[in-house]
Formats: sequence, C-alpha cells, structure tokens
Amino acid sequence: MKTELSEKLFAKAKDLFPGGVNSPVRAFKGVGGTPRFIARGKGSHIFDVDGNDYVDYVLSWGPLIVGHCHHEVMREVQDAMKDGSSFGAPSPREIQLAELVRERMPWVEKMRFCSSGTEATTAAIRVARGFTGRDDILKFDGCYHGAGDPLLVKAGSGVETLGLPDSPGVPADLARHTLTLPFNDLAAVEKLFAERGGKIAAIIVEPIVGNMGVLVPRAGYLEGLLATCRKHGALLIIDEVMTGFRVSSGGACGLYGIRPDLVTFGKVIGAGLPVGAFGGRADVMDRVAPAGPIYQAGTLSGNPMAMAAGFSSLRLMTPAAYEKLERTSAALAEGLARAAAAEKVPVQVNRVGSMLTVFFSEKPVFDAASARACNTKRFAAWYHALLEGGVYFPPSQFEAAFLSTAHTDTDVEHTLAAARTAFAAAAKVA
Ligand SMILES: *Cc1c(COP(=O)(O)O)cnc(C)c1O
Repeated sequence: MKTELSEKLFAKAKDLFPGGVNSPVRAFKGVGGTPRFIARGKGSHIFDVDGNDYVDYVLSWGPLIVGHCHHEVMREVQDAMKDGSSFGAPSPREIQLAELVRERMPWVEKMRFCSSGTEATTAAIRVARGFTGRDDILKFDGCYHGAGDPLLVKAGSGVETLGLPDSPGVPADLARHTLTLPFNDLAAVEKLFAERGGKIAAIIVEPIVGNMGVLVPRAGYLEGLLATCRKHGALLIIDEVMTGFRVSSGGACGLYGIRPDLVTFGKVIGAGLPVGAFGGRADVMDRVAPAGPIYQAGTLSGNPMAMAAGFSSLRLMTPAAYEKLERTSAALAEGLARAAAAEKVPVQVNRVGSMLTVFFSEKPVFDAASARACNTKRFAAWYHALLEGGVYFPPSQFEAAFLSTAHTDTDVEHTLAAARTAFAAAAKVA
C-alpha cells in the first residue's frame, strides 16, 4: 500500500501542529506508524491522499451515522449555507432540531445548543454545581467527557492512549473536586455517597463507555446511580455525546429506560458539523442564563448549517434505519469473534448497537482496569494488518469502532476477510 503522500504531509504537519495533529488520537501513537491523510469520504468508505480506499469504522469518531456525504444531509446544509452561515440571533433551524430531540427524548424538557461535546459537558457540570450549590463531582476511571479542566482526571480516549491520566495545567485545587471511582462498581458509589454525599453536585457517566473501548454497564448499574443521586440530592448527568442517537433513537437512556436530570450530546447530533447540546429537567435548565444566573454562551451556538446537518441526519434515522444498523453491526461483531477463534486469538468483542471494540484479552472487559490489561501489542499488529487490507479501525485499543447505515453486507464481508489475516498476524505477537 502506497503511503508516500501521507508521509510527506505528516512531516509538514509535525512542523505546524503539536505531534502533527489537531486532536491527539489521530496521531497513531497507540499503534505506531504514520496516520493517513484523508482526502474524501463517500458512504461507508474513505479515501486517503495516496488513493487508498478503506471501509471506515471511525466515521469522524461517531458523528456520521448515515455515512459520509449523504445527499440529503449535503443538500440541507448547502441550503442553509445559501441563507447565511451565521447570524448570532435566533433562527428557525434551532427549533426544528430541538423539537426532534425532545420528541425522541422527552426527558430533555429544555436544552441549549453549543458547538462541541466538551462545551456541553463543561456547561452541564457548571449547571449541576450552580443548581445544587455543591462543588464536588463524581466521574469514573476511564470515562472521557471531553477536554475540559474538571473532567481531565482519570479520563480515557486520547488521554488513555497517551498514558496521561491527569494533564499538567489542570490546577490541583480544581482536580480535588473531581472524585473518581471504577466504572460498574455500584457498591463503591454507595459507600462514597454515605461518607460525603452532601458535598457532591453530580455524577457524570458515559452510560455505555466508548472512550476506554466499549464497556457495557452491568444490569441495574445506571438505575443504581440514579437512585443514589436521588437519595443524596445530587444530579445524574448522562453523557450521551457518543451514545446519543447512536445506540437507539432515545440514546442509552432510551435503551435502558433511565430518566436522568441532565444529558449531554455531541457527535451524531451534528452529523459531522460542530454541534453539542446539554439539556434535561426544565427546573434545572431554567437556572441557565438568561433565564437564570448560571452563565453559558457561544457565538456560533445553534449555527444554522450545523442545525441543518443534525436535523436531516436524525430524520433519516427511522426505526427501520436503526434495525438495519443493528443487523449489520451484529453480523460484524459475530464475524470478528469467529475470525479470532479460527486463528486461536483470545478476544472479547464488546458491542452495544453500532459501537464495538475487539479487546485482546482472555477475560471479560468491564472497567478501566480490565481494559488496561489487554494486549496492546497484539492490537497494534491486528490494526496495521487491517489497515493494509483496506479497513480503517480506530487506531487505539481504547476506542470504539462505529458503523453507519451506509455500511453494506459487502463491506462486512470485505472486513471479515481482512480481519482473518489480521488475527493471524496478531497470533504471531506474544
Ligand atoms: C467525544 C466525547 C466528548 C467530547 O466531545 P468533543 O466534541 O470531542 O468535544 C465528551 N463525552 C463523550 C462521551 C465523548 O465521546
């Protein structure tokens, strides 16, 4: 596979950007080698600058649930652009998207749009603190909630890949208000709240973790978090930046029947344009400025092109579209497990809906510790063999792969053929 042009561009990029990238996980640090520079995408495929064609399971890290360049999404974004790219005043497309969100997720009684998932989680934490008058928050080891200061404590995603559980530059005085516990351990949460529940403003959690690779919540875990919050007057923030509109039309809350206090969105809600949102209980959201005193703002919030992208993409996600996505995703996950078994490579394929991770581990993976115990050298060998075979997976053991409605049975067959070779390559690594 030719990679000359990617290598040239990466050499230039390293001179311009820290590590050659504008977001850490793109740098291939977790697997080694040169990241591919992507020239364009179409449906379920991306094409790099050297002309290589890949089945794409990154999908911009989740947003592209209907695939690249869906004609309806493109048309609506172009229409919006013709009307003007931004006004800094209310515009009708905000209402359209918000009504659709509330129709699918009635627990989002009121919401505010912003421009990224990080903005959404940062604001949700501020709102929870402002509403409860408490400073501490609880998050879980390996959960990633964006790159905001209070949440860069034991975070997953790029931070996990780089082995920087805490980032320099986050003041210790701020980090001490972020309490962390292992994911999926309800007893630990109950114990912590028994000791200092009166000081905790909120629990923030990825309902299905995606940023440590996919970790599935144990039965009753999310319900238990909600009950603990209720008992102690804390708020439950379900961070659906990755899962929202992906694992079901109601997100993870819809899937598990949870009615949280606050929810955060990003990724799929913007279909590849910069959108984030937070929302939930009306009495809580009415404390946000200008209705209330808790400040939050953004020059480009509710941007008409971004609203158009989100709306047209979510409208395409009908019940039938989710069913199709489920079928393709199940076929891929089952095929990957079979291919690994055929090459005698022990793996755990964790999947919920169209997000999945192949963990190179003999034992079940359900929290950060069990994820960290995986064989990342085997993962790297597997990853590079897949890439050579024209399959673009996330370049890290600690990330989720995504499918879109554009992925076909042919894509899955191609992927499974490449995966068989890739597992054979992984088997040679100790
Ligand atoms: C991606 C992600 C974020 C951060 O969103 P950005 O748009 O990258 O700022 C926050 N929380 C979760 C669960 C995510 O997956």
